[in-house]
Amino acid sequence: MSVPNHRLRCHDCSEKQYPSVSDLYCTECGGLFAVDYVDAPDGTRPRLPMDDPTKANSLGEGDTPMIFMEKTRTSLGLNSLWGKLEFMAPTGSFKDRGSVILTTMGRDLGVREFIEDSSGNAGASLSAYAAAAGLKAHVFAPASAASGKLDQIQIFGANLHKVEGPRQAATDAAEKYVKENGLVYMSHNLSPYFSEGMKAVSFEIVDVLDDDIDHVVLPVGNGSLLIGMVRGYQELAEAGFISNIPKFHGVQSHAVRPVVAALNGEDWSQKNVKPTNASGIAVSNPPRLVEMIEAIESTGGSGITVSEKSLTDWQEQLASNEGIFAEMTSAGAFAGLEKLIKSGVIDKDSNVCVPITGSGLKEPLN
Ligand SMILES: [Zn+2]
Repeated sequence: MSVPNHRLRCHDCSEKQYPSVSDLYCTECGGLFAVDYVDAPDGTRPRLPMDDPTKANSLGEGDTPMIFMEKTRTSLGLNSLWGKLEFMAPTGSFKDRGSVILTTMGRDLGVREFIEDSSGNAGASLSAYAAAAGLKAHVFAPASAASGKLDQIQIFGANLHKVEGPRQAATDAAEKYVKENGLVYMSHNLSPYFSEGMKAVSFEIVDVLDDDIDHVVLPVGNGSLLIGMVRGYQELAEAGFISNIPKFHGVQSHAVRPVVAALNGEDWSQKNVKPTNASGIAVSNPPRLVEMIEAIESTGGSGITVSEKSLTDWQEQLASNEGIFAEMTSAGAFAGLEKLIKSGVIDKDSNVCVPITGSGLKEPLN
C-alpha cells in the first residue's frame, strides 16, 4: 500500500497503530480498534480505508432499494415507514457491505488464508468475497445454523467447520484454530474494517430522504450495522450535510438480550440464554457491547426485546402484506417497532426507516 489514509485507534486508550487485519487487540490495553482517518469527512461519500475504492473486491453490493411500506405504515399508524432492502445484496444480507471492505484490506495487506466465525450470513458473505479475491477462508459456524446458510458457505469453496453448541462455541473454536495453525483471524466482529462498510447505508438514506428520518429500528447482535450506520450519520453531520441524526433503536430477542439489558441496567449474563429463531442476533457476549451502547445513547435511542412468537408473526405479515420475505431476525425489527410505538417511545408523527437485513430464503419456515 502507499501511505495509508488511516490508523487504527484503540477504543479504550486511544493508542494508535498502522493498518492491519491480523492485529485485533491493542497491545497496550487489549481494547478493540476503530478506524481513524487522516482526512476530515467531506460528506459526499463515506471515508473508506482502502487505497483505491475503484479497485475494491466488489460483487456489486450497496445501493439497495428503499420502499415505502404503505400497508404496514397504515396498520402501525406512522407518518411514514421506509424499508431499506438490505437482503437485496449479492449473498442476500447486509453483511456484503462489510465483506467487501474486509477482504479488500486483507488482499491488499497480503493475506492469503484466514479464519472467520459466523452464525451464517457473515460466513456466507465472507466466503463469496474470499472466492472473488482469491483468498482461502475457514468459516466456523454453529452446527444448528440454517442449512441454506451452511450450503452457501460451502458452495463458495470455504472450508466449513460446524461447531456443536451455542453461537459462542463457534467463536471459541475459531480462536483455538487460529492459535494452533498460526493463521490470520479476520473476525468480522473484532476487525474495525467490517463496520466501515455499513456507513454507506446512512449515506444512501440521506441521498433519498435528506435528514427526514426520525428513527431507525434495527436488529442488533454484534452491532456492525448499528455502529457503522451511526458513524455514517456522524460523518454526514460533521461535514455539515445534515443537522438531524435519527434515533437508533436496537431490537433483540428476549431470549438473548445483552445489549438491551445493558441499556436498561438489567443484570443479565450468558447463563440466561434461551433458544431463539433470531439466529442472526443470537450473540450473548458481543465484543463491542460498550460501543453499541455508546452508539445508541449518542442518538438518544433505546433498546427493546421481542418474543419468539412475534418474529414469526411479523415474518408472515411482511410476506403476506408487503411481498417481503425477510429472515426471522429481520422481521423482529418490525416487532420491536410495534412495541416502541405502543409504549410511546416512537410517536405516530414519526418518519421511520427499518433496514431489512437478511433474506428469508436461507432458513426453513418455522
Ligand atoms: Zn488500548
